[in-house]
Amino acid sequence: MQLSKKTSLVLFVSLIISVFACILPVCLRYAAAADKVAVIGVDVLNVRSGPGTSNGIISRVGLNERLPVLDKSGDWYQVRLATGEAGWVAGWLLDIETVPTVQQPASTEPATPQDSGKSLVRRMALINSEVVNVRSGPGTSNGIISRVGLNEDLPVLNQSGDWYRVQISTGEVGWVAGSLVSIRTVPVKPPDPPSEQGETEISRGSGGRNGEQPSDGVLSLEVDELEDKTRTVVKAGTPFDYSSFTLDEPERLVFDLEGVSIGNLANSTEVGSKSVHQVRAGYSQRDPDITRLVFDLEDGVQYTASQSEDRKILTVETYIPKIKGSYEGRVIAIDPGHGGSEPGTIGSRGTKEKDMNLDVAKKAAGILEAQGARVLMTRTGDWDVGLYERTDKANKDKADIFVSIHFNAHPDRSKRGTSTYIYSNYEEPGEAARTRESNKLAQCVQSELLKALGLKDVGIREANFVVLRTAGMPAILVEVAFLSNTAEEKLIATGDFRNKAAEAIVNGIGLYFSGN
Ligand code: ZN
Repeated sequence: MQLSKKTSLVLFVSLIISVFACILPVCLRYAAAADKVAVIGVDVLNVRSGPGTSNGIISRVGLNERLPVLDKSGDWYQVRLATGEAGWVAGWLLDIETVPTVQQPASTEPATPQDSGKSLVRRMALINSEVVNVRSGPGTSNGIISRVGLNEDLPVLNQSGDWYRVQISTGEVGWVAGSLVSIRTVPVKPPDPPSEQGETEISRGSGGRNGEQPSDGVLSLEVDELEDKTRTVVKAGTPFDYSSFTLDEPERLVFDLEGVSIGNLANSTEVGSKSVHQVRAGYSQRDPDITRLVFDLEDGVQYTASQSEDRKILTVETYIPKIKGSYEGRVIAIDPGHGGSEPGTIGSRGTKEKDMNLDVAKKAAGILEAQGARVLMTRTGDWDVGLYERTDKANKDKADIFVSIHFNAHPDRSKRGTSTYIYSNYEEPGEAARTRESNKLAQCVQSELLKALGLKDVGIREANFVVLRTAGMPAILVEVAFLSNTAEEKLIATGDFRNKAAEAIVNGIGLYFSGN
């Protein structure tokens, strides 16, 4: 864009004013907020009149839209829409990028405000652990594709929950856990000025790209309706990695195919099966290309995904699990953590973990028994039970699964969300099978908890907890929410929240049994 000398002067003067203004403390808050850009991370995001889902929807924005941040309240951000209106969006469905206030040297042509955020900053992940696994998807249930070491600095491509998608030195792309990296925003050199006018337009949407390596496209998408499943087969012209995640309200299943362009794929494919309305296709990212497939689902749909050996074919099966009746005759060990002289963690309002654990456990046990399961409680009152005692009973009575219920704590009171732990041991043959089953059970319970409680997904994690290691059956330890987080403690203290948690744990267990 060519600017007149007068406009350039005005811009320069206003830049100087804003630099000076920001030295004044009174402007710091505004300056910090104005520097942030929200990048929408989901297909469609509701914009509300206030911070929270109880406020009315005033507009909607789409994937990768970039909106200046005006304010923040809890997990919600107030943003400026393209129409000039202001509205609130949920913070966990977007990425926040920081745009430097003082931009590039005056010699470069000033960028338009819309372009400045995109071209001037990039996020980097600095590895702060000795060895960090790089996985094929966001979460420890995804396979390890590589490892990176302390102080490696990797460009961040995108984010899912607490996981970051990074490019490693080999050029491969994979996911690392947010707890093992430091994320920072660095300025990047603006693109070189184009030599010819014809090349200035950066392609958007389906337009061609200049001077980039072509990536192979999707060759076909075939949908078959089987007896109780819908099978979708996606074939690409090149081997690819993928990541997947789900979104609620309405329920959607998203696959990102890395290094794959859309090819001749239709924008939307009508399915109309028991589990899938339609499959939509679009770009999640260009250069390198990531094709995003969005399955619009019926409520309560589960899925499995697998890839051919040459990684050119992805098969996705969606189905509605038959939960009803799957509890009949099962023996389920429920372990309310701590008790007696051991309160577990205590929230700032005085809520004791041992009491919350027991309440959720009793509620879950009640539902399970009503569904025909036999429940072994490791404690039914406020007393001490040894860690080994807990699994001894479950092992002797040959429980089918072991579910330990806890609430989490962290010195950093901003930590929040739901996680599920498993003991992972793939080295011993007997333990490998148990690890796989524990992981399946964890996936089922974690996904139901997230759906029911709507808290942050802290993920499925691995830990060497005594109760998980010594159980002779698939075992999980659920950390429903953080008692150390004030907002979550308030929730946990309500019976309604604990009812929901108990129901979700039961649903997850049913889901697990219905899949076996
Ligand atoms: Zn605990």
